[in-house]
Amino acid sequence: MQAFQYTSDPVRVIFGRGTSSKVDDEVRRLGCSKALVLSTPQQKADAERLAKSLGELCAGTFHDATMHTPTDVTERAVALVRELGADCTVALGGGSTTGLGKAIALRTDLPQIVVPTTYAGSEATAIIGETKDGVKVTQRTLKVLPEVIIYDVDLNMTLPPALTASSGMNAIAHAVEALYAQDQNPVTSLMAEEGIRALARSLPVIVASPDNVEARSDALYGAWLCGTCLNAVGMALHHKLCHTLGGSFDLPHAETHTVVLPHATAYNAAGAPAAMKRIAAALGAKDAAQGLFYLSKRLGAPTSLQALGMKADGIGKATDLAVKNPYWNPTPVDRDGIRRLIDNAFHGRKPGA
Ligand code: NAD
Repeated sequence: MQAFQYTSDPVRVIFGRGTSSKVDDEVRRLGCSKALVLSTPQQKADAERLAKSLGELCAGTFHDATMHTPTDVTERAVALVRELGADCTVALGGGSTTGLGKAIALRTDLPQIVVPTTYAGSEATAIIGETKDGVKVTQRTLKVLPEVIIYDVDLNMTLPPALTASSGMNAIAHAVEALYAQDQNPVTSLMAEEGIRALARSLPVIVASPDNVEARSDALYGAWLCGTCLNAVGMALHHKLCHTLGGSFDLPHAETHTVVLPHATAYNAAGAPAAMKRIAAALGAKDAAQGLFYLSKRLGAPTSLQALGMKADGIGKATDLAVKNPYWNPTPVDRDGIRRLIDNAFHGRKPGA
């Protein structure tokens, strides 16, 4: 018998094509009438279109969402919320825009509608990371859990193949770690396995044919499952390494996850054999770590930290940071092993080399 605890957080999920046309219904359903629409500068046109479709329900727009949620950007957005008297936010975009909506909610308690356009999974979590003076601090609080997620496959069609690949691997990382989490449970594990399966079969199709609607839909479904896993259980070595590397060397978020995942999985193979079997089965591979490595290669995603701009003299510092205050991990965290892991990831060697 496996004893377990499982908490499901309240969130309303709408999934389909053209679903972003229902944002107005959801604003009203929340009892709101003055939405602030958020986006990055790159997605301004989509956000403006959404704002227009909201008509009088839209109080205004803010297009400066930035990766890693810098607090100075949040302060400007909160000032605009107050000036306009906005009573909810609509975040259209990836993890960066969702992060801004969460940061506003943290300070104002405004309800959030998120329309995700990447596979990062932030929309499904009560987790927020904010950056101040170059330091990123992450916390978990239900104050930032979005009330409504509207997955619109049509808005996903424009995600470029390279971002599709790295964002998809970022999502898979949530599910991989959920399968060997300290507080793993049967329900989350089912979602994790299904999430990996959906992404592993759809990502290669999207990279080859970005207009394939069925594959886009499958990937977005998988991303929702993986994001839900990230929220439901604790994460381990892989997420710790990515936070450390991303924060200390200013490496891009999804790409760092993509490079590190096969190596963290190889490191954890001995400590989590049952999880490895389920990951390998979901990937349709013999071995979990090698399967992830070859999936990345097949997607044309980056496979070395060096290619992301990290310098060789950072390997020692990264090792020191990774072994300091480690998260719980199925394989004990040992300095030599972690150094080897980072060295392999830096050079893009096969995992476990
Ligand atoms: P992102 O949101 O920064 O998006 C990357 C770029 O792609 C942006 O320029 C964006 O405008 C553009 N883009 C997004 N969707 C597009 C689309 N469909 N078509 C064309 N362009 C599109 O990247 P991300 O990887 O989604 O998010 C990364 C951030 O999210 C990081 O700050 C990370 O820490 C955070 N994150 C947080 C959580 C959490 O639970 N708190 C989980 C995952 C990621």
